[in-house]
Amino acid sequence: MSGLAVFELDGRPFGVVYQPLPPAHLDPVDVARFAKRVDISGGLYACWPWTGPVGLNGYGRTQRDRHPMLAHRFSLEIDLRRPLAPGMLACHHCDNRVCVNPRHLYEGSAFDNARDAKARRRAVPPPHLRGEEVATSKLTADQVREIRVLIAEGRSVNSTAIRFGVSRLTIDRIVDGRAWKHVR
Ligand SMILES: [Zn+2]
Repeated sequence: MSGLAVFELDGRPFGVVYQPLPPAHLDPVDVARFAKRVDISGGLYACWPWTGPVGLNGYGRTQRDRHPMLAHRFSLEIDLRRPLAPGMLACHHCDNRVCVNPRHLYEGSAFDNARDAKARRRAVPPPHLRGEEVATSKLTADQVREIRVLIAEGRSVNSTAIRFGVSRLTIDRIVDGRAWKHVR
């Protein structure tokens, strides 16, 4: 994780910072403007709704060098510390267009994006359409065991995350034992 970090005070997030320095390709003024419009109240792993202007397409809008730019794309570029590769999109794992948490974003092709959207439509149970992060604690022990089996059998982290309506990070944490240690 580079670039984006959350300051915590008494265990509660209170601000987004960029460490150690904003990426060279972005104007620090643009980065500072962006940072003021990110709602990080849900914490590091929740969706971070954009509180600035939202376009008709449902995506947040910010500015780069006085030109409009998609807010989630801007966020991903901060995190990657470089522009997205030509033709690549900033795609959401969380299906929440206003979310700008870089943990929920990835650089993907239009093909990746369409495939993921299709997978989400097929997903059972239905994905968290409101984009709310489903906490690890909302899974049952049986689901956690099932997740470990699916991954061991070669299912992708992405499809498993979609299936259970949790983030890929949650799946990673379950698989490597950082979460749900007590479930065997
Ligand atoms: Zn999100």
